[in-house]
Amino acid sequence: MELIPVSPPKPVTSPLSYLTDPERMDALIRAIADASPQTDDDGTFPEQVFAWLANAGLLSVTLPGHDLDQRLSNTAGLLQLLKRIGSGNLAVGRVYEGHINALNLVGLYATPAQKQTWFSDVSDHHRLFSVWNTQAQDGVRIRAIGSGRYVLEGAKTFCSGSGWIQRPLVTGELLGAGQTGWQMCIIPTERVKPIPQDASFWQPLGMRASVSYKLDFTGVEIGEEDLLGKPGDYFHQPHFSGGAIRFAAVQLGGAEALFDATRALLVSMNRTDDGAQKSRLAEIAYLIESGNQWIDAAGRKADDWLLRGSEAGRIVAYANMTRTAIEEICLRVMQHTERSVGARGLMRPLPFERIHRDLTFYLRQPAPDATIADIGQYVLTTETNAHALWH
Ligand SMILES: Cc1cc2nc3c(=O)[nH]c(=O)nc-3n(C[C@H](O)[C@H](O)[C@H](O)COP(=O)(O)OP(=O)(O)OC[C@H]3O[C@@H](n4cnc5c(N)ncnc54)[C@H](O)[C@@H]3O)c2cc1C
Repeated sequence: MELIPVSPPKPVTSPLSYLTDPERMDALIRAIADASPQTDDDGTFPEQVFAWLANAGLLSVTLPGHDLDQRLSNTAGLLQLLKRIGSGNLAVGRVYEGHINALNLVGLYATPAQKQTWFSDVSDHHRLFSVWNTQAQDGVRIRAIGSGRYVLEGAKTFCSGSGWIQRPLVTGELLGAGQTGWQMCIIPTERVKPIPQDASFWQPLGMRASVSYKLDFTGVEIGEEDLLGKPGDYFHQPHFSGGAIRFAAVQLGGAEALFDATRALLVSMNRTDDGAQKSRLAEIAYLIESGNQWIDAAGRKADDWLLRGSEAGRIVAYANMTRTAIEEICLRVMQHTERSVGARGLMRPLPFERIHRDLTFYLRQPAPDATIADIGQYVLTTETNAHALWH
């Protein structure tokens, strides 16, 4: 596919300015959105966009001393950033969210020496991280071979970013090291054998630019210093399920992009006086704003409840409600948008059909039914009145 150059966002001297300067952030998001059609195929990773994010300081934004330093409890701010990036391009938002998630896990479970290495991979070398946990029957095992060395066997599916990720966080069953369980490791890709990619796995409805291939790690050898945390740490609550608020934020960005494009199209067609269009746009507006209220509240409450230290179940239940509510919001917004723009709006080069494919596919996240059942279980077994459940 031939790439047409897209104007890059203006360079800046201070990365902080993107978070504090709405105009600069808008320009970056517009540039990301304008570049999206060029990577809307199953094998083109948005490399240029990730170079922009790196230059904007956004790959390192959650590292110590940076604007959204993960230790400083500004989850709501992070969720708004994820949403904005998702509104530019959902596939970029997915990969960016994986990067932020991996660095969050490093912050939680790495030793001081490991943090120094992995944080410098990002701030000094602009290396991309990701979290690859999903697998099929031929999943990953991490086998100890002595002298602090380990060999991986097996494959991961849905590896967003695939070969473009230099520091994938991969999970697998640890075997033969005196401990067993679900172990995280971070693979220094340039220092291990080449990792074969199965691109035929990736023939998706949407999110094509996330190039989420199947990767086979068999024969990859790593050391003790590449293992992150202890077996089982990956599933610790509230961090495991509570992280769902991050993908929900990215998804909401897709709904915001549809809202903006719908308003622009209706204005361009001089269709703003129609009562039915007004009422659909009104509903989209309040749905999206309620999505914003969900992620703002989820971010603030998660920070607050984490500080108290004994609220894991509550954080998870609130995250489960947030992702479920945002899924419903996005589905409803897509339906209204389709009706508002009609068939002619759903044709290229207009963005609706791509965003619709991307959002439909990205809304399919793990265990949606079990998530709802867990919310029900929480509210049925928590002995407080309705007000006190969340306040
Ligand atoms: C664009 C994209 C990028 C992704 N990138 C990554 C990545 O980088 N890293 C990563 O680890 N993962 C990634 N994933 C995978 C993702 O995290 C989920 O695992 C995946 O989307 C869930 O797939 P599914 O909908 O087929 O799941 P399923 O769990 O099969 O769910 C499908 C349906 O079956 C139901 N169901 C589930 N279990 C049962 C059961 N036992 N019995 C009956 N019904 C059941 C569910 O409730 C749901 O209704 C990505 C996914 C997408 C879409």
